[in-house]
Parts: sequence; structure tokens; C-alpha cells
Amino acid sequence: MAPVIYPTTNLTATEQMCIDHAQGIYVYDTDGKEYIEGLAGLWCTSLGYGNTELIEAITEQLTKLSFSHTFGGKTHAPIQELAEKLKTMVPIEDAYFFFGNSGSDANDTHYKMLRYYFNAIGKPEKRKIITRERGYHGVTVAAGSLTSLPANLAHFDAPVEALHILRSDAPHYYTGRKGNETEAQFVDRIIDNLEQQIIAEDPDTIAAMIMEPITGASGVIVPPEGYYEKLQAVLRKYGILVWADEVITGFGRTGADFGCTTMGIKPDLMTFAKQLSSAYFPISASVIPGWMYKEMVAPSNEVGVFGHGYTYSGHPAACAAALKTLEIYERDNLFDHAAEVGDYMQAQLREIFTDHPLVGEVRGKGLIAALELVSNKTTGATVPGGKGGALAVKACQDEGLILRAVAGNALAFCPPLIITKAEVDDMLKRAKSAVDSTYEALKAEGLI
Ligand code: PMP
Repeated sequence: MAPVIYPTTNLTATEQMCIDHAQGIYVYDTDGKEYIEGLAGLWCTSLGYGNTELIEAITEQLTKLSFSHTFGGKTHAPIQELAEKLKTMVPIEDAYFFFGNSGSDANDTHYKMLRYYFNAIGKPEKRKIITRERGYHGVTVAAGSLTSLPANLAHFDAPVEALHILRSDAPHYYTGRKGNETEAQFVDRIIDNLEQQIIAEDPDTIAAMIMEPITGASGVIVPPEGYYEKLQAVLRKYGILVWADEVITGFGRTGADFGCTTMGIKPDLMTFAKQLSSAYFPISASVIPGWMYKEMVAPSNEVGVFGHGYTYSGHPAACAAALKTLEIYERDNLFDHAAEVGDYMQAQLREIFTDHPLVGEVRGKGLIAALELVSNKTTGATVPGGKGGALAVKACQDEGLILRAVAGNALAFCPPLIITKAEVDDMLKRAKSAVDSTYEALKAEGLI
């Protein structure tokens, strides 16, 4: 094997799929086998593969200006145009944008901007951040500490103590309910836990709470009705900022512009990446409101510089890719398309899988969904060792479908936004055969 350290991979595993080329919603391996990319790469290739408009826009920008940094007084047209365009789209007043290269670095940037802001207004003690169990926010040092998945913490001495991160309950009724608690009782209990935690920690020491409107890597958790309303009421009561991590849910994924719109969240801060450029070039953004930006100018007067930035912050080709992506979303009404095809996908998933003996819960919104694979449909007991998810992913590959198992036994769907209803039918037909054969294989192994 080539001397590559593969990301988020079991380093002892030797089996690999080598992808060679791609077009539309399909990718092809080096043997020429075709797969539907049912997870849009890593929740990111919203416009699919081989989009010539995007390739031309990027090539044109690279030809004109292949690089120009944005430190210390330099700027260029694409970064300005992108910020102006995004300002018209985000649900944040008088928004300002810091550009980076990945969801992780966008979250690290926000972590630091919050420190910078609260230092600027003379409240350095307001520095704790609340995150949630099962949240995923990336893998850099701060983002990795905000993430709550065991593999991202174990062996890295994370979370880093000095970051002052607090963890609250995951809003997943199916796996988190106690006894015969109703959904409403579950919501009340976890919101009350949060409020008690805030009081115990002292609200004046807590800056913000980070949340994925709908989670991705932890199993596509869609919080129950009423959860976000009550959550935001508590956060506002104690002066804690709402930080929406829209890295997966931004730009049409949930059938609306942002996951915040779908879930009724009014964010103070946002981070996004992935679908911002449909993954044609790495780019992320950390968004803050104007009132925060104005205060951040003060320390710059004192120390002369806002000392945070990446070489590739606002890379001209990345901005060109994002601008063209946003143009295509708007011109082709892709958020409406995602809403319509998303409703169809959700209905079909429920129709096909609700009564399946291996499926405990079908969940999702718009074009993001998951099947919770269980060994006992009545109790909801999970398949031991994440075996259900692993076998299902393999079975999907045999059927010509790439899906991803997250949180062990959640089989996630997140196809490119351009997918059609007929392609959804094809995807779900392949998924059904795969889930059927996984069920038989698990039975044969005595695991269910
Ligand atoms: N936040 C969320 C919600 C994510 O899903 C991800 C990546 N899947 C990240 C942050 C980190 O993004 P990246 O992998 O680009 O660093």
C-alpha cells in the first residue's frame, strides 16, 4: 500500500475502494463498476460530479489570478463578491464573514473569535462553550474537543481541558428516552438538565452553545418538535449565544436554505463549508453579526492586528467556485427541488423501511436521512459492535450504492441535491436489497 495515513480509517484495514472518475450522481471505481454516490461524497457534492460550469468558473479564475492572499490590507474581487452575496442569504443581521478551508477550521475560528470578542468587551471570563453529546464539529484541536464522538476524543487526550467545553444531552428521543417517557417529557427533561447545568456553571462564564440543526456524523438526529424553541428560550434567558454549525445542513440540504430555517433556529453565529462550493474547491465560512464585528475592531486598534488567518483564507478559486455554486442553486431553484425530491425520498424511505425487521427508526428531513439498524425492533437494541452498519455498507457497495454507516448502526443517506425522483427510486431499490441481505447475514451469524 502507498505510504498514506488515511483519515478516519481503521489503520489496520487493508480493503480499499479506488475511485477513478465520476459524473452526475455516479462514481466509478478502477474496475469500471458504477455506484450511486448516496452520501454526496462526504455530505458535500451537492451539484454532483463533472459540472462543466463550475470547472470553467474555477479554471477561468485560476487563469486570471491563481492565488492572492487576504492578509494585512490585500483583497480581491471574488472574496468581496462572495461575502456580499452570502450577506443577502444568511439569517444573521449585518453579517460578516471569515473564510477558511474546512468545517473544522471554521469552527476553530469561531472558538477564537468568541474569545477575541469577549476579551474586547472586557468579559474574558465568558469563555465556556456548550456542545452536545453525539455532536460532530470537526477534528482540529478546538473543533475536535467540541466533537463528542468517542473515536475523535480517545487517544488524542481530547477534550483539551483549557478549552472549557461543557457537554449536554443529545436530542435523540429514540436512543435517549427513559422508560416510557413521551417525546415531550424527553424534551422537558433534557432542557431542564441544560438549564441546571448553566446555573451550576454560572451563566456569566458561558459564551455560546454550538449545535448542528440536524446532526450528520452522529446518525442524522432530528430533534423532536419543540426542542429548539425551548432550547433557545433557555439560552436567551442566560445571555448565551446560539452557534449553528451548518457545515452539513447549509445550502438546501434539509429542503430549505439552511437547517436553521427548517428547524426554527435563530442563530447568532454560523459556520458552513461543504455545499458552499459543492466540494469543487475547499472553502468554509465563519459568520458573525455586525454588532460583534464592531466590538472586534477595538483590540485591533490596540495591538494593530487581528492575529488569525490561513494562507488560503478566501483563495480566489475557492471563492469563484462558491460564487458559481450559489448562482446555480438560485438559477435552478435547487433548494425547492431539494424540498420536493426530499419529501419524496423521506416518504419512500418510510414506506419501504418502517416495517423492515432490521430497521428501528427511519429519520431525516429533506435530502438527509438515516435508518437505525437494530437487533430487536421492539426494544430498539442496537446490533452489537456496529456490525449492522458495516455489513449494510458492504452490501450496498455490492448493489452499486455508496452509503455511510455513522454512529455504528445508522445507515445514512445524503445524495447530491440534483438527484431526481427516478434516481431516488433506483437508490432505494439498491438500498432495500442491501438491507435485506444484511438482515439475512446477521441472522446467519446469530447476531439478531
Ligand atoms: N461540522 C460538521 C457538522 C460536520 O459534519 C463536519 C464534517 N463532516 C465538520 C464540522 C468538519 O468539517 P471538515 O471535515 O471539512 O473539517
